[in-house]
Amino acid sequence: MLAEADLGERRVALVPEMVTRLVDAGHRVVVQWGAGAGAHLPDGEFVAAGAEVVSSSDVLAAADVLLAVNRPPAAVLAALREGTVLLGLLGARGDRTELDALARRGVHVLSLDLLPRTLSRAQTMDALTSQASIAGYRAAIVAAEAYQRYFPMMITAAGTARPAKVLVLGAGVAGLQAIGTARRLGAQVFGYDVRPAAREEVTSLGAQFLSTPLDAELAAAQAEASAAGAAEGGYARALTPEESARQQAELAEQVAGFDAVITTAQVPGGRPPVLVTAATVAAMRRGSVVVDLASGPSGGNVEGSVAGERTLTESGVTLIGAPNLPGDMAAASSAAYARNVVAVLGAVVSDGALALDPDDEVVGALLVTVDGATDDIADETADD
Ligand code: NAD
Repeated sequence: MLAEADLGERRVALVPEMVTRLVDAGHRVVVQWGAGAGAHLPDGEFVAAGAEVVSSSDVLAAADVLLAVNRPPAAVLAALREGTVLLGLLGARGDRTELDALARRGVHVLSLDLLPRTLSRAQTMDALTSQASIAGYRAAIVAAEAYQRYFPMMITAAGTARPAKVLVLGAGVAGLQAIGTARRLGAQVFGYDVRPAAREEVTSLGAQFLSTPLDAELAAAQAEASAAGAAEGGYARALTPEESARQQAELAEQVAGFDAVITTAQVPGGRPPVLVTAATVAAMRRGSVVVDLASGPSGGNVEGSVAGERTLTESGVTLIGAPNLPGDMAAASSAAYARNVVAVLGAVVSDGALALDPDDEVVGALLVTVDGATDDIADETADD
């Protein structure tokens, strides 16, 4: 395992507890020195757990399996030998050019964002869920911290404060966790999503569902699509430009009434949809807060949010572009992620040797293959 190269990334793919588990199972684990520093995991804890702590080049020379959180930089990818396994959140639903090139060179690329999440066997491997859940929790904390009033109702001798009104746009894993956390902080919470199933998920958390006229039409269309087999693993589809414009207009009427808005809407492999326009932000009350989890290099859910930045607009709204909130809780997110990758290793290692079976429903889904070609390897030593 190498240290993560992305600027500001504090997570790490393995934690000492999982090193012990791998070592006990007979594997050799090599870790780049300092890799766990951002997650409060000193080298000494990795050594005590049974890892060898070495330089990055020694990791690359030794590893048959390279564990990563994010896609490693080009120089690391170039150094991977034929037959090596690369496992991480590699972004195979986005730009696959680099991953395809690796697969063509005979590197076995396993991208965790391709996991078939509805399989019960895959639950322990679901890094998208473990990380999104942390992001959602943190988003509510970040919103509460940036909001200069109370989230809960407060009755004090100095007066009564009404509870904050919080709206969460996108009620998937992150959104539902944000809703639950904002509720626990005492806010009055609303959730919104284009997936019809989300309505019940939001209300079951004690929050209210924000209805817009577009919802009923989308629900009917999605019911038709799933009947025709077009829905993909429960994910939302990208809206058409007309639907998106209508959604923005319908949301604009309601968003201005909220003190804090948390946006989490994603379309796998696509650009995040713009849900809140700059004009809508300008219509919000001075002092309100917007946290955009979808913000990134290709935009976000909120016009004007900048990834990694906190901006105060001219009209006094705090816009927070928060693409990597799990990185802000690196200890918790690394621990969860490490459990996920070790669970995946359980599916690709058999009797101490690599055994990638492309016909296995999990391995076959994770494997990045070129032109439908399948990988088939066995009898290689499994190191990290
Ligand atoms: P995601 O991160 O891809 O997207 C977040 C949310 O944004 C989703 O709920 C999506 O419907 C919503 N969204 C997308 N476009 C939108 C738009 N224009 N307006 C409003 N909302 C929009 O989603 P996710 O959290 O990874 O979850 C995706 C699906 O997978 C969900 O149905 C979730 O319940 C399901 N899931 C199932 C399992 C399981 O079965 N074990 C595990 C994890 C997730």
